[in-house]
Amino acid sequence: MHNHYDIIVVGAGPGGASAAALLAKQGKRVLLVDKNKKAGGRMMTLHRNGFTFEYFPIYCVPIVSSRYEELLKEIDMLDRVDITPPEVMGTLLYEDEAGAVHEWEMRGNVLSFLRALGVPWWDFKGLYQSLFFLTKLFRLPEKEIDKLYKVSAMDYVDQFPLPKGLRTYFLATFGEAAFEMTSDKTSAAEAIKLFQQSKDGSAGYFGRKGIGFIFELCTKAVEDMGNTVLMKTRINSIDVEEGRVTGITTQSGDQYFAPVVVSGAGLRQTVLKLVGENYFAKDYVDWVRELEGNLGCVGYRWVLNKPLLKSPMYIYFPEGCVATYNEFEEMAAGERKPSRSYVYLGTTSIYPELTQEGKQLVYAVMSCMGDPEIDIKPYLDYVTTMVKKFMPEVFDCIELEEEVGPKNVPGFGTDAILPGMGGETYGLALTVDQAGHENLKGRSPIEGLFHVGSDAGGSGVGTHQAVDSAFNVTKLVLDHMKSK
Ligand SMILES: Cc1cc2nc3c(=O)[nH]c(=O)nc-3n(C[C@H](O)[C@H](O)[C@H](O)COP(=O)(O)OP(=O)(O)OC[C@H]3O[C@@H](n4cnc5c(N)ncnc54)[C@H](O)[C@@H]3O)c2cc1C
Repeated sequence: MHNHYDIIVVGAGPGGASAAALLAKQGKRVLLVDKNKKAGGRMMTLHRNGFTFEYFPIYCVPIVSSRYEELLKEIDMLDRVDITPPEVMGTLLYEDEAGAVHEWEMRGNVLSFLRALGVPWWDFKGLYQSLFFLTKLFRLPEKEIDKLYKVSAMDYVDQFPLPKGLRTYFLATFGEAAFEMTSDKTSAAEAIKLFQQSKDGSAGYFGRKGIGFIFELCTKAVEDMGNTVLMKTRINSIDVEEGRVTGITTQSGDQYFAPVVVSGAGLRQTVLKLVGENYFAKDYVDWVRELEGNLGCVGYRWVLNKPLLKSPMYIYFPEGCVATYNEFEEMAAGERKPSRSYVYLGTTSIYPELTQEGKQLVYAVMSCMGDPEIDIKPYLDYVTTMVKKFMPEVFDCIELEEEVGPKNVPGFGTDAILPGMGGETYGLALTVDQAGHENLKGRSPIEGLFHVGSDAGGSGVGTHQAVDSAFNVTKLVLDHMKSK
């Protein structure tokens, strides 16, 4: 019976690792399996040449007062994560229509923030409009936010008369940048929830051992509670008999059995490849095929020969940089050049524990469609042009340059399954059609099969969505097991 379990969890990314730990905490006999050498999936923490870093950039990972904190408390690991608040959370650089660049370090009062967005204190009308909007958003009660899942962030914001700079700031940062989905599609409810969360300032806090380390702790918790973790083990199939899940088969042919399988390997991969579409009704398969992934991310990872960045993130947004989804499609088709997007320049090398002394590992990126085959050259050119505008010194300090783009994602995360998809930063997008409680995608038509992770209906940004989904799915699984 050594290969029989109560629950098998496929994938030790943020979703799978969290779910496995939460289920083990409930006394279930759990097997956690992943193809990678360690946990974290797309947010895996790497150690190389004295740098500790995530393979992809990080710009929105609140640890404090968040689902992370709940998770770590629940699995008794909170004391293992040493959280460092940075001196400055980040720096906004807003280029107004006349080409003037206004800078705001994310601290100080609302007047300095609005001034940086082109609203000086003597612009009474602009100030009134801005303060009305910001106060309304901060105070919007949960039940009012819940009504906004089906409204796009752009449609919501455009109901308010607003100074251009504030509109651009809100839609570029709380729409596209945070959710990696254009603001004409991102759910207003998700954007507002994140905006409210940002007021306690936790977004810039960082664990001294990296973000992926949190998911390594989850796998440790699974093992400490007497369960099994198999890394470097690729799953070839999730096995089903008579409409019920029976277990998994690995690439090397080993079989493991359980009446419940929780897949964190992506909804599309799980349905279309690991189980196989013949096991599902055609309508369901069509629905899965049509689900929309979020945007990808493209740019550079640079090692700088001196610690140049003083702030963990710089967000440069020129006026009018709120692109629509259609524009991203046109860029991917080569019909339009990237010309009006925000650019992110960031580092975790601000923290001495994470960097080689005297150096910095830095990301400079923008969004693109999540197609692993996309031609990234035009985007790289745009990123270079923009960084030259606001921090030209960077180019005198580059010691090492690597390109990052959608094609790197499947190696760390879920496999690319459908043409044009698979290089998404998070997974399924929190659009007006896909966000909201009723869209919980953790369930499956196959008895005993559940989905977890960024593809499975949680709320929040990237890893938070995955951890939120782990809490939701743990409840679904426990209810299912109780009913048997
Ligand atoms: C460029 C980029 C920037 C990002 N920035 C942020 C950010 O700032 N903030 C934030 O919160 N999030 C960010 N994310 C998103 C975050 O990484 C994802 O939302 C999160 O990793 C999703 O977790 P998951 O568990 O759903 O999936 P994944 O992380 O994709 O994990 C899936 C796991 O399943 C395993 N797996 C897949 N197929 C198989 C198989 N056949 N057999 C065995 N194992 C398998 C994979 O190895 C992987 O470990 C970013 C991601 C990228 C790519």
